[in-house]
Amino acid sequence: MRLDKLLANIGYGSRKEVKKLLKEGFVQVNGETVTDGKTHVDPEKDEIYFGEEKIIYRPFIYLMMNKPKGVLSATEDPGGETVIDLLEEAEAAYRPHPVGRLDKDTVGLLLLTNDGKLTHQLLSPKKRTPKTYYAIVEGTVTEDLVPKFKRGIRLDDGYQTMPAELKILRSGEDFSEVELTIFEGKFHQVKRMFLAVNHRVRYLKRLAVGPIVLDERLREGEYRHLTEEEMGLLK
Ligand code: URA
Repeated sequence: MRLDKLLANIGYGSRKEVKKLLKEGFVQVNGETVTDGKTHVDPEKDEIYFGEEKIIYRPFIYLMMNKPKGVLSATEDPGGETVIDLLEEAEAAYRPHPVGRLDKDTVGLLLLTNDGKLTHQLLSPKKRTPKTYYAIVEGTVTEDLVPKFKRGIRLDDGYQTMPAELKILRSGEDFSEVELTIFEGKFHQVKRMFLAVNHRVRYLKRLAVGPIVLDERLREGEYRHLTEEEMGLLK
């Protein structure tokens, strides 16, 4: 690939900024200073240095974000902010996309990657990737809902959901706290499942997607790279 593209991809700046850095002689390829961004390099084989720093090129990026309220899980939103806008240039340069969608008012675990194969694997209905949510719902959630959810819930459009696992954490008079694991990802699924049994979801937070669990040290709006261990779980 082109040297300027590689450097821009891994966060050394825009193509224009990279061109300037190259001109200034910061970059060496196999021991030779290279000033022309059009030079083709093989990131697997060539030794590329930026000053003293050896460049390790990873074509893919894998992030977990604690999505805040009020931002769209999309790559573009003409009218507002997206999760991509929350990324630093170094990560945005990889052009990641969110793996699936969370509603604008939903918070919690959102994976972001530019690895289309992984996205497909996690979103494919055939894989039945579990997704676990914590929710605060209006009204008193009673134990009889557990087997109901286990059988699947008929939604407003007639669709019968796959079996889902409901755990009641606290059953209050006005509000209840629950954990729900679903194995598919229909539009507004959690909210619609509860609405179908007369409970409105007030707060929704995703805790896990497949083997990846939200790192509770991440505050809303923060993100981090997946660890080697987490990457291993996704294989
Ligand atoms: N279910 C919903 O209703 N909303 C989300 O954001 C995710 C799952």
